[in-house]
Amino acid sequence: MNRARSEALFAEALRYLPGGVNSPVRAFRAVGGQPFFVDRAAGARVWTVDGEELLDYVGTWGPAILGHAHPGTIAAVKAAAERGTSFGIPNPLEVALARRLCTQVPGVQKVRLCNSGTEACMAAIRLARGFTRRDTIVKFAGCYHGHGDSLLVKAGSGALTFGHPDSAGVPADFARHTLVLPFNDAEALRAAFAAHGPSLAAVILELVPANAGLYLPRPGFLELLRQLCTQHGTVLIADEVMTGFRLGPAGAQGLYGLTPDLSTFGKIIGGGLPVGALGGRADIMDYLAPVGPVYQAGTLSGNPLAMAAGLATLEALENARAYEYLETLGQQLETGLNDAARAAGVAVRVQRRGSMFCAYFTDQPVWNLADALRADRDRFARFFHGMLARGIYLAPSQFEAGFLSTAHTPADIERTVRAAAEVFKTL
Ligand SMILES: *Cc1c(COP(=O)(O)O)cnc(C)c1O
Repeated sequence: MNRARSEALFAEALRYLPGGVNSPVRAFRAVGGQPFFVDRAAGARVWTVDGEELLDYVGTWGPAILGHAHPGTIAAVKAAAERGTSFGIPNPLEVALARRLCTQVPGVQKVRLCNSGTEACMAAIRLARGFTRRDTIVKFAGCYHGHGDSLLVKAGSGALTFGHPDSAGVPADFARHTLVLPFNDAEALRAAFAAHGPSLAAVILELVPANAGLYLPRPGFLELLRQLCTQHGTVLIADEVMTGFRLGPAGAQGLYGLTPDLSTFGKIIGGGLPVGALGGRADIMDYLAPVGPVYQAGTLSGNPLAMAAGLATLEALENARAYEYLETLGQQLETGLNDAARAAGVAVRVQRRGSMFCAYFTDQPVWNLADALRADRDRFARFFHGMLARGIYLAPSQFEAGFLSTAHTPADIERTVRAAAEVFKTL
């Protein structure tokens, strides 16, 4: 494929944007080569500036659960824009979106809207610290909660030692308040609470971690976490930025029957516009200013275009029996990829929950970050480029999940599986 226009744009982008992009993974560093530029997108497809049509499994990294440019969402955004793009004054759409979150998600009694998942997670941590008057938080290796200072932390040398900065510019003093544990490790969790229980403000996690590929919670792990948090007065924060309204109408917490104290959202609830939200127990949420002592604010928070897009998306999801359809497509993809890999004799672990999936190039089970890191990244890179050459766009990293949308069809999945069968044979 001739990607001359993309190449020219990327060369220019490199002059004006660090690395040519506004979010690192878009630069294709994990798979090599150069990113393409998009001209437009509709349904399950994107068209590049070079005129190439691609079947898209990235879905703008999660938000596009209805596919791109869904007519209902576009109409809602247009109608909202006609009335003004931002007010900085309370508007009815904010109340409607907040009401919907409170109605659909059992753990959510009150909501604060903001502009990104990162912002929601930063605010959730500050709120938990303000509410408990404690400083220490627990996160799990491989879970991503945006790029706030307290959360860009990697594990220390021992299971119970505090973390180290995972980015230049994060003070080691901040990282020292974050304990990083392996996911799905009940013993490590028990030991952390035994050693630090009275000083733990919060535990934050993705209930289904989807930022190091995709792996699932082991039976009993989430229940143990809920029990330990309750016992120690620690705020349990479910980061549902990815899973909220993706895994079901009540998110991952609905699927697993877990009620967190706080939840964070983003991606789907903005329908493709910039949104984040933080919600949870009313007594904790009321610690936020202007009622409580924990400060959080935003000029564009509750933005009418973003609210309109989010509401239209959530309404469409409710009407379309979307989750059953996505599960059917997911099963078709999972079975197809497994069969194709077996036929080609390639070791692949297809992991899936609903419309989220990951194909790890390994023959070992994957339950945490350490397992995920055993996957063969070079093989994934060849797979990625083989699929792209066949018009199928997967996330450009072994450690990102893929996403199905209601705009994907069984014929799309069939085509994808056929392409994968070909590519597997070349690996
Ligand atoms: C994407 C994501 C975030 C960050 O959201 P942004 O809108 O990119 O800031 C946080 N947590 C999880 C689980 C995510 O997948």
